[in-house]
Parts: sequence; structure tokens; C-alpha cells
Amino acid sequence: MSARGLLVVALGGNAIQEPDGEDSVSSDFARTAATADRLARLAADGWRLVITHGNGPQVGNHLLRSELAHVHGDLPLLPLEVCVADTQGGMGYMLQQCLSNSLHRLDLPAVVATIVTQILVDQDDPGFAAPTKPVGEVIPAERAEVLREQGWELVEDRRRNGFRRVVASPHPLEIVEAAAIKTMVDEGMLVVAAGGGGIPVVAGPDGDIKGVAAVVDKDLASALLAVDLQADGLLVLTNVDAVALNYDTPSERPIASMTVAEALRYLDEGHFAPGSMGPKVEAVARFVEVTGRPGIVTSLDSAAPALEGGAGTRILP
Ligand code: ADP
Ligand code: MG
Repeated sequence: MSARGLLVVALGGNAIQEPDGEDSVSSDFARTAATADRLARLAADGWRLVITHGNGPQVGNHLLRSELAHVHGDLPLLPLEVCVADTQGGMGYMLQQCLSNSLHRLDLPAVVATIVTQILVDQDDPGFAAPTKPVGEVIPAERAEVLREQGWELVEDRRRNGFRRVVASPHPLEIVEAAAIKTMVDEGMLVVAAGGGGIPVVAGPDGDIKGVAAVVDKDLASALLAVDLQADGLLVLTNVDAVALNYDTPSERPIASMTVAEALRYLDEGHFAPGSMGPKVEAVARFVEVTGRPGIVTSLDSAAPALEGGAGTRILP
């Protein structure tokens, strides 16, 4: 056990929700249980794990519930940052339960704990002036105008024939609970942290922090956490086996490995879409640059072979 070091594993949306599958709590649990089995196998291989996860669809649903309860039941509207905190709790519960079940089945130590995680961002981050991060489900065109009038910023999603709400996505600066997470990891716990990219907070002149209505990219938050923990690797798991050049064109080709400099050049050349693969490559490159340790982008299925160098995309110093 623990012979292979510490991995920060960032789970994409498809680790929890089946793409285009049924949207229900029980199907999310089934999907998460399958994900947890794979992660437990990494633990069985000797890796210590810190798990982070996205929350796009979940935080969107939570916001919508809050809106509906406000309109129909006169309940107070929940600020976005409170919705992020709530989804950290709910999704952390699901991951905690599934991970401890999977670890138990393999007779591995199963102390799993989720920590509500705040992330410091800059009040003057340019992200606040230009919201780019989609949250929530696809909104049909006929509802778009009403929601715009309620102050929602919407962008059209042509491929999915509707609109998405977009919110600010400021750059993460510091993980408020980093020391607590480190203590838990050092005690041998499997920690679920920085769910949904963390709860964005800003510091006032008096040093007090308070939440802001934004979401932090979960891949950038995961990289920051991996740096803080001096992790031995950062594993970003998504719905493609590898990062590609000329993605979605006839000349698409997967990248087995690239240096930080190459990654940043390809990013500059526009190979990695903003809001999806862009922040993943940026995040992993940053971790690799700061720590000199490898980062990987791959799928859940290819995670184990990718750690052996036989799959996925590896970013090297
Ligand atoms: P996650 O929920 O895992 O964060 P995202 O949808 O944000 O997933 O990011 C993964 C997606 O990035 C892939 O499904 C793919 O459509 C898209 N993508 C954009 N550019 C690339 C690229 N160059 N190579 C591979 N995938 C890419
Ligand atoms: Mg994403």
C-alpha cells in the first residue's frame, strides 16, 4: 500500500452521470459506483488518492430548484456559491458511500471523507466581466427570454438546440482548506475535495472571506490542489481517451505525450477548446511546470494503463 505515491484524480461529468442517459439519482449512484470500483483498483495498485469532481449539471439543477421554490413556494433564492457548497455535500455523500463500498470489497482501508472546500479568487478577475462557464441543463429557446429578464446570462448551444446559462469563472488562487486536506491525506484518508472546482470566495480589506456568485473550473482547481499537496501525479479523467491535435477534423490525431512547452504552443494554436479541453491542458501543464511531476489526461477506462504509460496523453516537464 501507498508504495506509488499520491495522485490527485479529477473526475469529469461522465464519471457520475451517464452521457445522454437517464437523469435520476439512482442512475447517478449506479454510474458513480462503477467509477468508484475503478478508483478503488488504483488504490489496490498502491496509489493514495485525492478525488475532485465537476458539478456542472448538478449545480444547474440545484439553481433551477431554488428558482422554482422561490417562484412557487416563496422560499429564499440560493446564491450560486451556496448551490456549489450544497452540491459538494450531496455529491461528496454519493462518492464517499460508493468509494468506501468499493474499497471494503477489496479489503482495503476505507476511511473516505469529503471536505467542503473554498477557493480564493481575485475580486478583480477579468472573468467577472465576461461570464463564460456554462451551468445547468440545455434551456429551450422559448424559455430563454424569460430567464434573461431574470438576469441570467445565456449563450446559444447550437449542437444541442437551445441555450445554456453562463456564469463567471475566475482563476483559482488559493485553496482555503489546503492544510486540512493535507492533514487528512497524511493520516491515510481518501479525501474528496474541491468539488465543482470549489466554492469561490474573495478576501475583503479586513481579511475576512466571503462567497461570490461564480464557479471555478474544476481542472484548474484540481491542479492547484495537486501543487499544494505536492502530489506525485495529476490524473484528469474525462470522456476521451486522449487529447487530440486537430480535434474533430479529418486530420485529428491523438497525442501520447507532450512537453509543457508543446502543450502551451498547441493551446495557443487553438487545438484545445476553451471551456472543455483547454482548461484541462492548461491545468495539467501548470501542475507539471511547478512540480516537475507528470500529468495525464485520459478516460476512466484508460486510467490504469495510462499510469503505466500505455494510454492517454501524458504531459512532461
Ligand atoms: P469533463 O466533464 O470531463 O470536464 P469536458 O466536456 O469539459 O468534460 O471536456 C472534454 C471534451 O473536450 C471532450 O469530450 C471533447 O469533446 C472536447 N475537446 C475539445 N478539444 C479537444 C481536443 N483537442 N482533444 C480531445 N478532446 C477535446
Ligand atoms: Mg469540463
